[in-house]
Amino acid sequence: MKCLICDRTLRELMSWSYILHRSRQPLCEKCASQFQSFKQSFSLSGLDFVTIHYEYNEMMQDVIYSYKGFGHIRLAKLFRPLFTPLKKERRASIVPIPSHVHKVERIGFQPIEHLLRVAEVPYDPLLVKVYDGELSRLSKEERQQVDRIVRVREGVRVRAHCILIDDVITTGTTLQQAAAVLREAGAKRIDAFVLSRPVKRSCYTVDKNIDKSRQTY
Ligand SMILES: [Zn+2]
Repeated sequence: MKCLICDRTLRELMSWSYILHRSRQPLCEKCASQFQSFKQSFSLSGLDFVTIHYEYNEMMQDVIYSYKGFGHIRLAKLFRPLFTPLKKERRASIVPIPSHVHKVERIGFQPIEHLLRVAEVPYDPLLVKVYDGELSRLSKEERQQVDRIVRVREGVRVRAHCILIDDVITTGTTLQQAAAVLREAGAKRIDAFVLSRPVKRSCYTVDKNIDKSRQTY
């Protein structure tokens, strides 16, 4: 068996349970060790509860870019165990954040829907992506000019509880707008389940007992 990421032949499978809920995945120890759990608390106005699994570090960036940018579809297997808790969800709608149809034509699949299919999670594709661009490349002011990112698909039934699924949160603008349009369509509670988020680290820890009068910065 080979490591799903670096293609190295595996002599011994690392217990991926360390990172991913007691399941084993074909990853070498070196690749597995580069996934860092997201440990900060995070909330987003307009959403009830946001779960984030990993730091969006270099490894996650490479994996997501290979998966979504180049269509390396087999990488979806990596995240299958994360979705286990959602497999038995029957009351809430599991709602993937969609990619724009132009992107889907280019790579050949809907990335978040495919993650859910591979994980065998039943989902409701309630949303359609309207904005065909990369929000993360825009400034805050420019993002505010984009008034429609997603819309609710016509003729669908929106349940009271929706769980949005996405790969990366940066500013949260897409999730917030998705939550807003679902609320307009009747949803009462909206959570999000996201693979990763960039972590801001401070360069130093400020000692709270420091003598402020002597502080020079
Ligand atoms: Zn590897």
